[in-house]
Amino acid sequence: MILAVGCWLSICSVAVASPDDRPPNILFFIVDDLGWQDTSLRLHAQGPPHRDAYRTPQLERLAAEGITFTDAYASSPVCTPTRTSVMTGRSPQQNQISYWILHKDRDTGGPREGTTPPSWNVNGLQPDDVTLPRLLQKGGYLTIHAGKAHLGAKGTPGENPQNLGFDINIAGHAAGGPADYRGGRSFAKDPAKPGQSVWDIPGLEKYHGQQIYLTEALALESVAAIEQAHRQKKPFFLHFSPYAVHAPIIANERWLDHYSQLPKKEAAYATMIETVDRALGTLREALEQLQILDNTVIVFTSDNGGLSAHARNGPAHTHNHPLASGKGSALEGGTRIPLVIRWPGTVKAGRRSDIPVISHDHFPTLLEIAGVRCPREHDATVEGVSLVSLLQGKDHSVDPQRALFWHMPHFWGPRGPGIQPFSSIRKGPWKLIYYHHPQPQRVLFHLGQDVGEKTDMAAQQPQIRDQLSQLLGQHLRAVKAGLPRRNGTTIPYPDRMAESTKKPN
Ligand code: CA
Repeated sequence: MILAVGCWLSICSVAVASPDDRPPNILFFIVDDLGWQDTSLRLHAQGPPHRDAYRTPQLERLAAEGITFTDAYASSPVCTPTRTSVMTGRSPQQNQISYWILHKDRDTGGPREGTTPPSWNVNGLQPDDVTLPRLLQKGGYLTIHAGKAHLGAKGTPGENPQNLGFDINIAGHAAGGPADYRGGRSFAKDPAKPGQSVWDIPGLEKYHGQQIYLTEALALESVAAIEQAHRQKKPFFLHFSPYAVHAPIIANERWLDHYSQLPKKEAAYATMIETVDRALGTLREALEQLQILDNTVIVFTSDNGGLSAHARNGPAHTHNHPLASGKGSALEGGTRIPLVIRWPGTVKAGRRSDIPVISHDHFPTLLEIAGVRCPREHDATVEGVSLVSLLQGKDHSVDPQRALFWHMPHFWGPRGPGIQPFSSIRKGPWKLIYYHHPQPQRVLFHLGQDVGEKTDMAAQQPQIRDQLSQLLGQHLRAVKAGLPRRNGTTIPYPDRMAESTKKPN
């Protein structure tokens, strides 16, 4: 089994003692749809036109005090698969949660244009699943979820984060986006009847009618939950998951005058980003006041690449420049995301790393930091690797040549570059994408020379193409990942294309 490499050795054994010997608090701050270029923290010399306007000083400060990963990836180019991978340490293809969920037993991504996706777990995580918050809860943590959950489908127990290991649930449920961000509109489709639409935000009734933005309300409620943990003398795990900056793009009017130079939609988007950054500031201030900031590990990241296919000003598919495309795509714009980790006393301030890492690495990392054991049976299936040694300064404790895999055999809503059913692998500077539709096709890019994935090298580098195809095929078979059917026949694994084309019929 190739699955377990890394996790056997790295997690579930040694607690990492904090300065006062209490396990550290964990603030896991996962923004929705925040692109690689959507902040004022520089991850590349080039950027899209609006980048210079963004204001994220709190994130810049976090980076100055911690480590910034330039080559961090989401486990998937869409929400639920990445989020459930954080919760389990497994890839979406092993979880079989390979697309976003909403209603019980209902597939949100069905057949299209002659291609039928394989069956998958359309209900998402459920109470029997081993999850990060459940393990931390058993380890003595107060576990707090705030904001978007989108982990289990509506009408199943998994829609409530409290059934997945969270002690406290602030406004999380099955839906992956809010009807509205404004308290003045009750965060609802129809402010007069909040709770009628599946997209209406639950549980923040005290803010209805108030001039407050959803992200701000989530930060205030999270501060109260942190204070509760402090009173109870418990370490906390706060999964802070603002619905922002997911569509609908609605301005926080408090900050609109900061962005008068931008087109209307982009100005609104920039206020959403700034509001997220200010929420980070609000939480940090609370930690400072409680004098627990330096005993808190802060992870700041996103769940997929930035939205660029629709609902934005400017040409579609350009908002993550120089990365190609955006959310929903196999290309880098779909999966490359910001990642900053602050861990005082362990992470040297101002570090940067270009080692490729992926969302399911957070599971073993955070368990090791907390000193919490993972059940052996689940541990054997964990694909993420602990980043603790890397965070401690051992740069090559995570292999820069480690292969990372993605698999989304589904159509996303909008169309655009790389937005179609695919599997892919990155190993070192090379990335191979295996498109499932309209015909099985492999493309190969050298990310070191071509981060924008413009030049397909598959024909020029057949050995690398075949080597990566083989690794990808082995991985997909090992995790029992399903492939789509076309015209009644399941498409071949990427390393078996040649065999299938040799045989007539
Ligand atoms: Ca998302």
